[in-house]
Amino acid sequence: MTLAIPLPTTAPEIPARLPAMLELSLDDIKNWLAERGQPPMRAKQIRRWILQGRASNFEAMSDLPKGLREELAANFNVFSTRIDKHLIAGDRTHKLLLRLHDDKLIECVLIQDDGRHTACISTQVGCGMGCVFCASGLEGVARNLTVGEMLEQLILLRNLTLPGERLTHIVVMGMGEPLANLDSLVQTLAIAGDKDGLGIGQRHVTISTVGLPAKIRQLADLGKQYHLAVSLHAPNDALRSQIVPTNDKTGIPDILAAAEYFFEKTGRQVTYEYVVLGKMNDQPVHGRQLATLLKRRKAHVNLIPWNDVEGLQYRRPTDLDLNGFIAELEKAGVSVKVRKRKGSEIDAACGQLRRQAEQLGTIAG
Ligand code: SAH
Repeated sequence: MTLAIPLPTTAPEIPARLPAMLELSLDDIKNWLAERGQPPMRAKQIRRWILQGRASNFEAMSDLPKGLREELAANFNVFSTRIDKHLIAGDRTHKLLLRLHDDKLIECVLIQDDGRHTACISTQVGCGMGCVFCASGLEGVARNLTVGEMLEQLILLRNLTLPGERLTHIVVMGMGEPLANLDSLVQTLAIAGDKDGLGIGQRHVTISTVGLPAKIRQLADLGKQYHLAVSLHAPNDALRSQIVPTNDKTGIPDILAAAEYFFEKTGRQVTYEYVVLGKMNDQPVHGRQLATLLKRRKAHVNLIPWNDVEGLQYRRPTDLDLNGFIAELEKAGVSVKVRKRKGSEIDAACGQLRRQAEQLGTIAG
């Protein structure tokens, strides 16, 4: 039997995905231009429009010949991600939920404070480290981000600053474990630091790691002036392995030795981050143990009271416990600060927005 009634046509065809310009190295762009008889200097021009000129399409690149702009537009996209959600808090903190070409979601944040404009970027889709209190790792890691995808976060956030403003700082504290994607991260930061790029100096970049000793040493050997923050979260191995499961493979002594090596190589003081989980790692005994670990080191402790993650049963510390903990560190002469909470109403702990979106089923397929 044949069907007499035509079947309804399917949804409009999705245009073929074009490669994103930021995935190409300067040499790749030069080669592409050479094949079209264009001078190599155009490659820098194109990059400058994106990195410095805030261009989001090729048409805007007014000093390129019109024909070339058209050919670029037919072959490339400027960006590869789409802004799925853009949230703005009263303190001018912006949070972007970005949809990648393969429909995966990542988050990045612009924090604006005292004349600083800080981009907080992700390095992976999800995270494989499994810290028990963190929203980013609840579903594990899907993949590393590319150089282009990391640069794009920086550029999209920079484009949210006002004309005349620029990004001043980068913190690699979004989703993912930066040192698990070290090669691409280093390439990204090199472009971010270049005067033809975003011009953000090495000393204004902080890389936060769960503490992978071999990778910390590798980073130290690069001889860069990046600031290293190590997520310690507990003052002894038994407790740390409960909170940060990868600790089973490393252990605190190895991490501290690698951080010491980083300090010796770079001369830069290491920051230890410590997520404060009420009644779990915030008691005076924990403060004393942490003080013993750190007091003879050139170190600074950044306390981060836990940000609620829906579905997780941890607690924020009480003021009494937090102050008691701080007192133990100060007594031992360890430098300590509590991290200010920014953009709390647009929430907060990284990975949350993505989770909400996924739970709402906004992910295609
Ligand atoms: N993988 C890197 C970057 C993680 S995000 C690392 O482990 O350092 C930066 C910091 O925020 C880390 O110290 C991380 O443990 C912390 N963090 C993650 N979720 C949090 C939450 N819900 N509340 C408070 N801090 C959190």
